[in-house]
Amino acid sequence: MYLSRLLRLTSNDIAIDLGTVNTVVYMRGKGIVLNEPSVVAIETTNGVRRVKAVGSEAKLMLGKTPGHIQAIRPLRDGVIADIDVAEQMIKHFIDKAHGGSSRLTRHPEMVICVPSGSTSVERRAIRDAATNAGASKVWLIEEPMAAAIGAGLPVTQPIGAMVVDIGGGTTEVAILSMHGLAYSTSVRVGGDKMDDAIAATVRRRYNLVIGEATAERIKHELASALPPIKGEAATIRVRGRHLSAGMPKEIVISQSEIAEAISDSVGQIVAAVRTALENTAPELAADIVDRGIVLTGGGALLKRMDEALSLSTGLPVAVADDPLLCVAKGAGRTLEEPEYKGVLTEA
Ligand code: ADP
Ligand code: MG
Repeated sequence: MYLSRLLRLTSNDIAIDLGTVNTVVYMRGKGIVLNEPSVVAIETTNGVRRVKAVGSEAKLMLGKTPGHIQAIRPLRDGVIADIDVAEQMIKHFIDKAHGGSSRLTRHPEMVICVPSGSTSVERRAIRDAATNAGASKVWLIEEPMAAAIGAGLPVTQPIGAMVVDIGGGTTEVAILSMHGLAYSTSVRVGGDKMDDAIAATVRRRYNLVIGEATAERIKHELASALPPIKGEAATIRVRGRHLSAGMPKEIVISQSEIAEAISDSVGQIVAAVRTALENTAPELAADIVDRGIVLTGGGALLKRMDEALSLSTGLPVAVADDPLLCVAKGAGRTLEEPEYKGVLTEA
């Protein structure tokens, strides 16, 4: 009894938002202790694979690695695409979050966020990875639930609340009430698709090949969920490699071209939200008319995304505070406040 209490006090229980683009770690009593890109650089020499870098350091290598090094995003499409690499990444982040202290001296409980649509095979893979990384016990929480708690929505009460979490690989749309998901859907559209669409447009219109990082930068600086008002469109200079000349080149692209490029992705997110609303029980729908929709995830920061959703649903739409951190904060809160234990499932 005494020993287990002591272990609990010295073990730093953690919650992990294992996102397709970013991994965020919350530690009980400390808050957010790590926030890094979900990227691993792997070096292969004589057929042996070795982790060269993880996180921010590995992201800098995306698209710039020589032949024998590969920068991988193991969770790219919202599921674990490469389980070995994902496990190494989780271990690395957990060690780093604990300040590098030995894995043997602590036995943290871990709360891990899983996409609402994930299969039991995927959940088992995540649990095994966490156990191998030293977890004494693994709890799972559905991502939209964590996002809603992190955004401060009343998920423990009999009040309908709606959250839309726009990540890199997926967008999760959910309606929550009384510790549970009354409706949830996950669509494979998010920031990555927008980046791809921007790169495709630049290539088609200007014969210019650009990398993932450049496409993402264009999106952050210029992309908008709604077309710009005529005469007010900004432009941006973009560098890449010209397709036919094969030489580096710079072009100028306008905000309207970028808005058009991502309009398909935006449309799919809007459609998923409308479908959710059409499938909501009337009493919950009435609450949502009152309280509106809350946006979380990095995609919530896309310019005028809230406005696009509001226009197509007629509902008030708000972007949560720190949308990129909502899921980790919400999962972390379940470690701090017993009130939220009911939203966790044992892995
Ligand atoms: P995940 O949970 O899948 O890891 P995140 O919630 O961390 O995803 O969001 C990452 C996505 O948000 C990326 O596609 C990133 O480009 C996008 N993003 C971040 N900031 C902005 C911004 N200001 N405008 C548009 N998209 C953004
Ligand atoms: Mg996420």
